[in-house]
Amino acid sequence: MADSKKVLKIIQAISLKMEEQKDYLTELDQPIGDSDHGINLGRGFAAVNEKLSGLEGKDIGTILKTVGMTLVSTVGGASGPLYGSAFMKAGQAMAGKEDADITDFLTIIKTAIEAVELRGKAVVEEATMLDAMVPSYQAMEQAVKEGKAAEEVLNAGVKAAWSGAEHTKDLIATKGRASYVGERGLGHQDPGATSYSFMLEEISKVTG
Ligand code: ADP
Ligand code: MG
Ligand code: MG
Repeated sequence: MADSKKVLKIIQAISLKMEEQKDYLTELDQPIGDSDHGINLGRGFAAVNEKLSGLEGKDIGTILKTVGMTLVSTVGGASGPLYGSAFMKAGQAMAGKEDADITDFLTIIKTAIEAVELRGKAVVEEATMLDAMVPSYQAMEQAVKEGKAAEEVLNAGVKAAWSGAEHTKDLIATKGRASYVGERGLGHQDPGATSYSFMLEEISKVTG
């Protein structure tokens, strides 16, 4: 599915996407948060982007770990430690690997989910990034079981991530800043579920 070189391309594509969607992600954070999700991820992934040339020739584990550490050290908001630990833990799971197949990819995503659940003390249906992460993981796991090709697996994941993000409009947030607005958050899409859907979409584009 992806060797180290392709993983660097994926990270670069995600960095550019976060920059491109900075205003939109920040707007989503306005009614239910503090209007900084896009700014946070824009800053974090700009720092990640600057490290990419230094990561050429490194294994996938080192690349993912470096992305995570960079996000933790540059993003002040909740999303920094959450995405940061997701990438760092995924990096540990891929230590020394030069190549990742679709099974490794599912391991990466599962590890990332567990990291967010642990760090955020959250589960699905609390209107967070997990509402995009978990259903898309389940859709991809199912597609792999059905023997689908990697490209189709990713497509199923992206579709499920976006419906999961959409579904956060129907949820009252119980974690993070959005929990402060309670029912007033209804009808608003969670910024983190949205940024995650963009990330998975970039992974799908680069590998597809
Ligand atoms: P902050 O809320 O500190 O300003 P961001 O705006 O960058 O940080 O990120 C907010 C996003 O982080 C939310 O949209 C949500 O998806 C995610 N989030 C916040 N708290 C949690 C948590 N406890 N568990 C999982 N995800 C969370
Ligand atoms: Mg915010
Ligand atoms: Mg903030």
